[in-house]
Formats: sequence, structure tokens, C-alpha cells
Amino acid sequence: MAQVMWTVTGSVQVEHVLPELAWIRGARSALRGIKVRVQARSKIPFGWGPWTSWGTVVTDGRGRFTVAETRGGDRRQLRIQVLFDDDRLRIKEGGRAGVSLGGDGFPVDVAIDVTDKDWFVIHDDRVAATESRRAGCHDLGTLLVGPRRLRELADLWTLVGLALDGLDSMGSRFGLDRKQVVKYPMGVGNGSPASGSYSNPRNGTVYIAGDELHSRTILHELMHQWAYDRTRGEDGLAWQLARHGAAAPAAREATTVMPFHEAFADWAAYELLRRLSNGGLSSFLEDNSDSEPGVPHSRAFLVQALGSTDRHLDTVAFTERGWRSFLTLLTCPTVDPLEPETAGALAGPSGTIHGPTRSVRCGLTFRQVLDVLNSHAGRPGANSDLRNSDLDFRGIVHRAQRVHPELTDDVVAGIMSCLDPLDSTTPRDGVLVPRRRSELRMPVGAGLATAGAPRS
Ligand SMILES: [Zn+2]
Repeated sequence: MAQVMWTVTGSVQVEHVLPELAWIRGARSALRGIKVRVQARSKIPFGWGPWTSWGTVVTDGRGRFTVAETRGGDRRQLRIQVLFDDDRLRIKEGGRAGVSLGGDGFPVDVAIDVTDKDWFVIHDDRVAATESRRAGCHDLGTLLVGPRRLRELADLWTLVGLALDGLDSMGSRFGLDRKQVVKYPMGVGNGSPASGSYSNPRNGTVYIAGDELHSRTILHELMHQWAYDRTRGEDGLAWQLARHGAAAPAAREATTVMPFHEAFADWAAYELLRRLSNGGLSSFLEDNSDSEPGVPHSRAFLVQALGSTDRHLDTVAFTERGWRSFLTLLTCPTVDPLEPETAGALAGPSGTIHGPTRSVRCGLTFRQVLDVLNSHAGRPGANSDLRNSDLDFRGIVHRAQRVHPELTDDVVAGIMSCLDPLDSTTPRDGVLVPRRRSELRMPVGAGLATAGAPRS
């Protein structure tokens, strides 16, 4: 039979499930950089021959793919499959099963990639009304992935891909060490209370639980991996399993390592969201864990996590809210000195933190704070991975000052004053006392007025 040219083309898009992606990219957007496999089968006397692959290609920036083949001119049917996979990322559909725990405390998850399990059919002439095709050019148009599970996996690909782009764009030292695998839906089975989402530092895999497909959770788990890449002595990080599954984690933890990692992952998720949305989103549209991102906690709120005999700066580092406040203070451009009864803006334009004795500048960028966790060759004090013993305020500040000399002792003193429960909780002249916005709520009438409610 004469050989003729077949061309199959189309574009792959997803209608977003995650509201933050719909906000950033519109209701639907192109699936970039995914693998597309075109299959065809021939009409034979009593039915159809087997599906054979005509090749695998990668979609371009507009989600487009094209496969051209020289084949016989007999009638064909086409089938299109996709795989969410490239050098940086692989998305896998998981499952909830009775998973046993390995020696490292994480569920045993054997990665076997010998099947086609991760390939998903997005078009099939059998299912579509198409009876058979002749040789020539077949533009399948826009192929929307579905059903919902596939849209969810496509959103994981899109969101994690955007996050990896954002991290990579900061510089060569800001990416992840290895290819990330994200599995969804996945969890520890048998109704285990430790059934939240988690990141396993051993195999570089993020597991998203079936009921936790939210942008914050996804970015939180990804940033755990980012931090683990830069931390040594992470044995025992399986505490995450219980921590993420717990309805109400302890305010005061037994170590500083756990609250550091938890606060960092959550704080960084917000910073990433702001970056991915070009500053348009400062809060997640669902699963929002932080009611006042970017606003440091008041000393009064920090102290609530500590027993009455336990109220020292050092013990604040045993709390997630302490680390969350510390990270926020590093990036806070300024916190104005507050009058006790004033519900005014907490952050002003001057880039100034008012320390106990004088005004000091801070306001590191997200990138600059991440850089504190990077290792810097030739800079003693910051030239190796973080060890668990570095993860207290003293250790982190020491490292941060090696990386960013502009963090002078004055700046550090201003930050520490905000975290120190032994410092006065009453604002003094020129003393920074950050407060939670919720603690500053005005009486109902005044609050409504400042919120811009219609005036009569
Ligand atoms: Zn976490």
C-alpha cells in the first residue's frame, strides 16, 4: 500500500479546579511541557487492529502538539494520551490503602513505573463520534482534560510548575535538588489519624491527601522539600505525618526543629503565592491558614503559647507562631509604632522598624530570606547545610548576618525585641510592639466605618 502523510495536531488545556490558578491564569489555561502520545489503529476486515504509538511529543507554551507520520492510507482511529512529566516534576495518581510504615517512620511507597498507569486518555475516536479517518491533517482542536480527577492532576502540574519556575528564576541556587514527584490522592490508610498530606525527604515525594487538594497545602508541602534539601539531620521528620494530621497541634512543641519547618513551609507558601500572582493575591482563596499574612504577631499572642514559667525569648523558638513571626519580621518593610487604641496600618512606606533605642531598617525580600537557608561557599557560618542544632533564633540570626551583613546587630535587636516575652508588652515611645490585627478591632460602629461600610 502507498505511504501517505498523516499529521495529528491539537492543544491541551485545563479548566482549573484550584481558585488561585483560575485567578492567576484565567478559568482555563494551556498545559505546557506535558508529554503527549498519539496512538492510531487501522481498520481491518473484522474490526480494528491494535493501538500503536505514533510517537510522544511535548506540548509548547500554548499547549500545542503535532505528530507527523508517514503510514499506509488505510482508515484509522486516533487516541491521545498525556503524561505529566518532565525533568523537574512528575505527577502521579496515588491511592489510599493500608500503607505500612518503614523504618524511617514514613509509609512505604515503592515507586514502580513499568506500567502505563500515569498516562491518561484525553481523546479517543472510539468514544467520540468519529468512525474512521483518512490520511491527511487532523486538527483535534482544543482538548480539555477531564474528568475532574484529571483536572486536579493537571492543576497540580500547573501550580507546582509555576512554583518551580518562580524558584528557578531566583537563581541557580534556589531550585530543588532533584526531580519532585507529587502523588494525589494519597494518604496513610486505615483511618489513621496521621492521614494528612506530607513530604517525604527520603524519596523527594509530596503526598497530597484526597481531601486536601488546595494551593496552600500543595505549596506548603513543596516548600518542606525545599527546606529539607538544605537541612542535614532530618531523620525523624516523619513527625510531619502526625503534625499534619492533628486537628490542633501543640502550641509549644518539644523541639525547635518542628516549629521551624512548619512555620517556614507555611510562611513560604504565602510568599510564593504573592510572587506567582504578581502581588495580586496575599491570601489563599480557600484553605487559608493565616488570617493576617505579613503582619507580625503581638507579644501577647506569642506568650499565649507558653506556660507562665516558660516565657523567654529562647522558648518562643519552640512555637510555630514564634518562627512565623520571626520570618514575617525579616520581610516586614516596616512596622509603625502603635498607639494602644489605634487600629491604623501596621506597615508604612518608610522601611523602618523602631527598635528599643532607635529606628532600624529591615525588610528583606522573600529571595533574601530563602538565601539564608542556602549554603554559601567561602562564608564561615553559612557555608554548609543547616543542621537541626542551628534551628533556634540564635543560630538562624548568626547565619542570616553572615549572608546579609545589612542585618546589623541593631536590626536584630529590634526583631528580637518584638519576639521577647520579657520585653514590655505595653508600647513605649518608639518601641515596636506588633499586634495582630484582630486584637486591634475597633468597637463595632467604628470598625464598620473603617471597613468602608455604606454610610447613612
Ligand atoms: Zn508542614
